[in-house]
Amino acid sequence: MTGSTGRVLRGIAAAVLGFAVCAAAPVQDADQKTITLVHLTDVHMRPGFNAPERFRLALRDVRSRKPALIINTGDTLDGSADAEVKWASWQAAVAAEIGDIPLFNLLGNHDIDAPLTREVACAQLRMPSRYYRFDRFGWRFLMLDGNGFAADQEQWDWLARELREAPAGMPIAVASHHPIFSMGATIHSPGDQIGRWKELVALFATHPNVKLCLGGHSHLADVTRYNGVTYTTGGSVSGYWWELEKSSDGKGSYQQTPPGYNVIRLAPSGVVSVDYVRYPDPATR
Ligand SMILES: [Zn+2]
Repeated sequence: MTGSTGRVLRGIAAAVLGFAVCAAAPVQDADQKTITLVHLTDVHMRPGFNAPERFRLALRDVRSRKPALIINTGDTLDGSADAEVKWASWQAAVAAEIGDIPLFNLLGNHDIDAPLTREVACAQLRMPSRYYRFDRFGWRFLMLDGNGFAADQEQWDWLARELREAPAGMPIAVASHHPIFSMGATIHSPGDQIGRWKELVALFATHPNVKLCLGGHSHLADVTRYNGVTYTTGGSVSGYWWELEKSSDGKGSYQQTPPGYNVIRLAPSGVVSVDYVRYPDPATR
């Protein structure tokens, strides 16, 4: 390495560090004690049903809540047909509507429908790898790849190591597309839960740092508190996949869950509240 190259690299490192410090500064709620996390899931971007425009209504509503961060738990795309058009709609909506709010994504099953690949989906979703971690507001977030999780020993080992090595007292949130524990899925579609979910529930019970689990996939909104962990499945932004005629109420709902997203308030010590909210979309009113 030459001296000038070293200086350049140190400059880049400083810039990255500066960004990290800046980005880590929490945007606290008015009470100065909590932050708002918006949990989106199952956007199922598609060209029809006015989905791109209706998704923008959802993001505008999200932005009005001034969240510190947004987590999207996948099925961003509605399958592989016209994938480039769908990704372009997603990118345009995100660029136009969320401003500088940090957005963290993970992979749903439809984001990698053949012939789509994890590599392309990770790049489109600006993910460093198919599973990863990040820290915000004193919390550690572990973002899983729920696709094929049951047979994915490498990822299981990573998760177990992350839990073992996390700083004492640091609250942990685990996010996956397939819910780890969901009452709605238990009622309507037990197969929707992530593989080895009973083992995960038992594992988390031995790590009291784990406070929150975020999931999607079922399009059902529920919150279950079990062994000190708040498990929530965030309904879906797309409801009945943006369709009205097939929906359970003619207004976009799947089962009893309307289109919406989770608003979660986090304190340094744990989860304060989880609320599933609708967004103003004239098509669903
Ligand atoms: Zn799914």
